[in-house]
Amino acid sequence: MSATLIDGEVIAVRMRAEIAAQVQQFTEQHHYAPGLGVVLVGDDPASQMYVRMKRKNCKEVGIESYAHYLPADATQAQVEEAVLSLNQDTKVHGILVQLPLPKHLNEEAVLNLISLEKDADGIHPLNMGLLAMRGREPLFTPATPTGCLVLLKEMNVPIAGANAVVVGRSNIVGMPVALMLTRENATVTICHSKTRDLPSYLREADIVIAAIGLPEFIKGDWLKPGAVVIDVGTNKIDDATAEKGYRYVGDVELESAQAVVKAITKVPGGVGPLTRTMLLANTMKAAYRLTAKA
Ligand code: NDP
Repeated sequence: MSATLIDGEVIAVRMRAEIAAQVQQFTEQHHYAPGLGVVLVGDDPASQMYVRMKRKNCKEVGIESYAHYLPADATQAQVEEAVLSLNQDTKVHGILVQLPLPKHLNEEAVLNLISLEKDADGIHPLNMGLLAMRGREPLFTPATPTGCLVLLKEMNVPIAGANAVVVGRSNIVGMPVALMLTRENATVTICHSKTRDLPSYLREADIVIAAIGLPEFIKGDWLKPGAVVIDVGTNKIDDATAEKGYRYVGDVELESAQAVVKAITKVPGGVGPLTRTMLLANTMKAAYRLTAKA
């Protein structure tokens, strides 16, 4: 059996076309475009690339992006000031603080400042709390986990009643995706670095979400035949045969997994394009909400 390779870009392109139509309608109605405020601190090449791609996607769909680029030695007060000014700016409907922030900054304090109604990344503690509670609805759900759910639904993967194993419990991926799968009635197990015998959990999993950050860590023979794997991991590895001398791989060893599972996402080009598209969708949602209130 050779698994279907899930191409997130194809789905993302279609969704961005839908968002572009919404943006056009909004812009015609309000005579200004929805806006995303972006805060990037420092010169980490990966973060710079992510911000560049997110702003490019904004431009493609007609969302205006307003960037605050701060130096690596920016003070806590400067970063907080950038967030506060975006909170105040009526042209800005969604705010993204690109993570991770440099070590000397208090990330929690910065994220707590983002206006709940502009939390386009869906990682405000209150939004996360609402996500965890039954019968409550968060204003926004985080971009990457939402992208994972979109991929599963696009693939018509039955979620209710399925055994789902999430490997990783970070605030931005593992934990919220586990909460979202629980809301969809999957039976969810969260594994992490202290989990004993990870393969024994994975062998029972109909759905695997891998969000670890270790290149090709999960092997094919750990997985259940016929499982669906969403590989969030994006790990840069040296490869002398690649044009640039490096390439990106996921947390799952693709070759051995493909022989076992039913479907697995591409890396790159699987979850990443959906993450960026969900940020646009959340910005649009914020724009509708804020203008309806005004
Ligand atoms: P974090 O480093 O914040 O979290 C990693 C998680 O993996 C932790 O919960 C950790 O456990 C767990 N872990 C580490 N080692 C093991 C192990 N040996 N066995 C089981 N679990 C382990 O990473 P992120 O969640 O931010 O990102 C994960 C990956 O996803 C990265 O490769 C990142 O680049 C990628 N990513 C991709 C995105 C996309 O759009 N495609 C978006 C965001 C991230 P513990 O809690 O015990 O430390």
